[in-house]
Amino acid sequence: MNTRKGKILLVGFGPGSAEHMTQRAREAIAEADTVIGYATYINLVRDLLDGKEVVRKGMTEEIDRCIEAWERARQGKTVALVSSGDIGVYGMAGPTYETLFAAGWEPGSDIEVEVIPGATALNAAASLIGAPLTHDFCAISLSDLLTPWPRIARRLDAAGRADFVVALYNPKSGRRTQQIVEAQRILLRYRKPDTPVAIVKSAYRQKQDIQLVTLKEMAECKIGMLTTVLIGNSQTYARHGLMITPRGYGNKYDTETGAVREGEQAGRSLRMGLENWKACARAWLREDPIRTPEEAARHFDAPLGEILSAIAESEGDGGAGAWSAARVQGARIDDLLEAAAQWGRLHARVASGTGAECRLTVDNPVFLLDGDRLRLEAPQFSLEIELPRLGQAWFLRRAETESAVHFLDAAGRKVFALSLAGKDKHWQQQAYVHAWQALTKPRAAGFTSLSNAPSEENALNGATQ
Ligand code: SAH
Repeated sequence: MNTRKGKILLVGFGPGSAEHMTQRAREAIAEADTVIGYATYINLVRDLLDGKEVVRKGMTEEIDRCIEAWERARQGKTVALVSSGDIGVYGMAGPTYETLFAAGWEPGSDIEVEVIPGATALNAAASLIGAPLTHDFCAISLSDLLTPWPRIARRLDAAGRADFVVALYNPKSGRRTQQIVEAQRILLRYRKPDTPVAIVKSAYRQKQDIQLVTLKEMAECKIGMLTTVLIGNSQTYARHGLMITPRGYGNKYDTETGAVREGEQAGRSLRMGLENWKACARAWLREDPIRTPEEAARHFDAPLGEILSAIAESEGDGGAGAWSAARVQGARIDDLLEAAAQWGRLHARVASGTGAECRLTVDNPVFLLDGDRLRLEAPQFSLEIELPRLGQAWFLRRAETESAVHFLDAAGRKVFALSLAGKDKHWQQQAYVHAWQALTKPRAAGFTSLSNAPSEENALNGATQ
């Protein structure tokens, strides 16, 4: 029996040039008895392979390579699996651990495993084009060989919506030519056509090629298997052939004089930081009495629920003008609906979330709970709501002129709202205020509700989605 402990070294050797390989990556390859990798990767480190067993594999043999590494390590060998960039980024590190786990391996057992980090393609590409990644960014692979396209599209959409700088890996190959066209189409929903885009091919390798173009031009450019595409965010600009994403100093300092902007403090969160942004939202509502919380949600690009909580938190700062709000405690939606059914004439407003809103007037609506569904029944009108979608409910009032309850999903987006519409305003208001007082305080012990919500803090009716 061989008593030497086997070892698997997962080595990312950086973009491809010797100077950009780490010391540890070089040592790890030197230490190995066997080096396994794609033929192209093996070629990039060929100077380091003298006297070693070399296993070259094709593109589709990834799992085979993991199994081979494991088998050799079991014989007490030191095996280096090599990959360009960082081996944990769209690389072999994940499949290797999965193969090892499947074979019953655990850390500290017979085979030692070490992951050696390397500069990934997005670092290499960025360094050649200026400073495009100076703010929040994400990487998305356009390869649909192992990932369903709807998931890739969803991530592109989310990245676009959230204004991330986006690095596209595996943007295009001989067979996969339309993915980049789709990516462009999705990102153009959110980004200007002249958003800077860097197309970097073979960074730090012989055939290195860099194109600085715009999002509108991106899909027509020369892009291949060895290309990384960097797409700017809304702040990114191109100058003198470089692509720069500002770090955000301009939010705090005057870029000409260097002075701290009014209302900001050096070394502290921005006025619009976590602690204070809700005070800014209240001030915005105070400034102009015709502004509504829904407009504030659009203005601050925040969910309505966050604006309502900003209003509810008003404390000694002038509040949110005429607006006041309070959140319905935990699982009391049933109680709220029961109360609302007594309020006489109501307007029901249903948001589609896409800019369309349906408004209807109902007298004494009947609310029916039907499994997972809530139905609001009125003559010639029926509204059906998926209860698990409801995550929170709020009372919202503008002085005496507008009294409503808003039902939001767990992320704070509006599902529907009911507002008082009766002529007999006085008793309606009284009933509304009574419900407000009763339902926005923590529930008294021993109270049972129609639904069996597990906890107060949980979403209404116990659902979190
Ligand atoms: N583990 C690698 C990524 C492997 S996925 C890393 O961390 O970099 C393969 C993709 O990486 C390619 O399709 C290309 O998008 C990108 N890539 C790898 N090396 C590159 C290089 N030298 N220049 C530009 N892009 C590269």
